Amino acid sequence: MAEPVNAQARLDKIVTLIAGNMVAEVCSFYVMRGDGTLELFATEGLKREAVHLTTMKAGEGLVGLIAKQAEPLSLSDAQNHPSFSYKPETGEEIYQSFLGVPVLRSGVTMGVLVVQNRAHRVYTEEEMEALQTTAMILAEIIASGELQALARPGTDIAVRKPLALQGQAMADGVGLGYVVLHEPRVVIKNLIADDPNAEARRLETALGELRASIDDMLDRGDLAHGGEHREVLETFRMVAHDRGWLRRLREAVMTGLTAEAAVERVQSDNRARMMRQTDPYLRDRLHDLDELANRLLHQLAGQSMVADPADLPDNAVLVARTMGPAALLDYDRSRLRGLILEEGGPTSHIAVVARAMGIPAVGMIENITGLVEAGDAIIVDGQTGIVQLRPQPDVEQAYKEKARLRAKRQEQYRGLRDVEPVTKDGVRINLNLNAGLLFDLPNLDQSGAQGIGLFRTELQFMVAERLPSLGEQIQLYRSVIEAAGDRPVTFRTLDIGGDKVLPYMSKMEEENPALGWRAIRIGLDRPGLLRAQLRALLKAAGGRDIRIMFPMIATVDEFDRAKAIVDRELAHLERHGHDLPRLVKLGVMVEVPSLLFAIDAIAAKADFMSVGSNDLMQFLFAADRENPRMAERFDPLNPACLRALRVVARAGERCGIPVTLCGELGGRPLEAMALLGIGYRSLSMSPISIGPVKAMLLGLDVAAASDYVNRLIDEKPCAVSLREDLKAFAEREGVSIHQA
Ligand code: PEP
Ligand code: MG
Repeated sequence: MAEPVNAQARLDKIVTLIAGNMVAEVCSFYVMRGDGTLELFATEGLKREAVHLTTMKAGEGLVGLIAKQAEPLSLSDAQNHPSFSYKPETGEEIYQSFLGVPVLRSGVTMGVLVVQNRAHRVYTEEEMEALQTTAMILAEIIASGELQALARPGTDIAVRKPLALQGQAMADGVGLGYVVLHEPRVVIKNLIADDPNAEARRLETALGELRASIDDMLDRGDLAHGGEHREVLETFRMVAHDRGWLRRLREAVMTGLTAEAAVERVQSDNRARMMRQTDPYLRDRLHDLDELANRLLHQLAGQSMVADPADLPDNAVLVARTMGPAALLDYDRSRLRGLILEEGGPTSHIAVVARAMGIPAVGMIENITGLVEAGDAIIVDGQTGIVQLRPQPDVEQAYKEKARLRAKRQEQYRGLRDVEPVTKDGVRINLNLNAGLLFDLPNLDQSGAQGIGLFRTELQFMVAERLPSLGEQIQLYRSVIEAAGDRPVTFRTLDIGGDKVLPYMSKMEEENPALGWRAIRIGLDRPGLLRAQLRALLKAAGGRDIRIMFPMIATVDEFDRAKAIVDRELAHLERHGHDLPRLVKLGVMVEVPSLLFAIDAIAAKADFMSVGSNDLMQFLFAADRENPRMAERFDPLNPACLRALRVVARAGERCGIPVTLCGELGGRPLEAMALLGIGYRSLSMSPISIGPVKAMLLGLDVAAASDYVNRLIDEKPCAVSLREDLKAFAEREGVSIHQA
């Protein structure tokens, strides 16, 4: 194959060589095109005129079948196979035996390689292996993109094809850039081993090292960085001893592949199976194997698992299977344009961090790491959850326009920063920020928010590699209080459990984690952690005011008990001569529906209430907030839901205590308008929402909204959603309801 004149000559030479080596009369190579058809790119034995002319639709004939199933097919009597169909222009009707293998890369079918013989012939295992090995070489040639020049004019080969992929929006924004793989692909330079025994030894050594490194990570508790959780690693530990997997790896080496090529072969077959597997349990298992193969490959290549954050090019869009929040924080934000993950939903921790960093992010894009090549042009739309891979110029133009419009609107919102948040009829509304990381603090000045309405303290615990010490907690809380200056900060005590798992703590298996042992329940049952946190908060606030609230309170008694722990800590600090806070205000999060029926009782005890609408909605409608199928099922602008929210606002008014709402609802202008209508005067939201919500309220007559919304709720109790009515009201009144 030395010095091929051009790509076609090189392919022609490869098929001739294969045919010769396998003593086959025919060897043909088909490449997958962007439209899913397979085009004959080279042949030895079939009629040459058919090259670039003959195509097979997906699933058509034996070649289509192999592509679809991503599995080899060996037949000694091909013409009697139900899928057999022949293309007259190729002259293949005279061949009886057929051996075809998919050309796979990262589990994606890129083409099909076939040999045929005139006589009935049974191909051996070794012959199939040899053909698969050649297919690996062809996969790399296809991936390099060089075959595009040979394709019929107007057609794209699949690997260069523009793709629009739908995932889950994780962090708002539109980003255009170029793919950077968080775990760079290992480039395998040698497929064929010089000494198979030496390769077998290399494989065993790498497997041993892999097992040891997993044990080591588990022992050290150094977990958050890679995004692994303890139980994931524990699964890896088990899978690393999987006999079937080990056998396949060893067999692949024994066929003469290098250890790296063997791992890649097994991994690619595994990925292809994974993508076709519908049983969630089996998929998970295949996924674990895939993850492990990846580690093994890096181990063999002596290549570090993740890209060096210091080498990040400009306009980078990070693509990863999964990623820990700490790993994302390592990258230079100013060079990042977006983040795309194979996993990760809108409420995952990485999503929270991406939002805090202001990076558009999309999750749940299946096998994205297998579909992209480093350096591919890519667009992330964190609003719709769409990813455009290798976009056509018109698509790129449309997104550039979208990004430009967003930037322009942001500019306008920035212009509102110092405008007082007062409605048209003179009612002052409190607009606060939701925060949780040091990263968020500059947003306080930039957005013009009046304070931090929700500081999610668990984020520090979630991004850390081990439990933050008392000193580390004090340091963070102090920085927050100092950055806020005169502006109030409401700290929420640890809201862990449920979906918020700490990587270094073993997770309890629970049937319904959202309804399980979480948040204040853990705090009250195992008060050590809560006590330490309260001590840190109270110490950090020495000489100043502090506001603390408790998550997931379901009964008044729970609030009493939490308050008692605060009192105890205050007494402890006083006894030891510490500087006490000037004023301690204790609040309750209203996010469990039982509190709606004890609202006056709790309002009589708490200094303030804050509605956690994310959880309140999930429990009111019995609709898991993590489940994408439920995401659009119930509209919070439903009369029942607005009534529930009104109960809290009215109780606050009756009992003379402030009420805030700090769920996602408050950050959406139309929803925020409805909330002001039912009596809310304080909202807390992500920084990006402050501008749009302020623009809304500046044009709103709250008295009119209040009349309208309250009447609407009462007059249309059976409506599924009041959204359209509210939109019409906003339009009539000239109220801006643009999102960010
Ligand atoms: C909520 O539940 O609405 C809330 C603000 O808290 P979190 O999203 O952190 O559960
Ligand atoms: Mg909550």
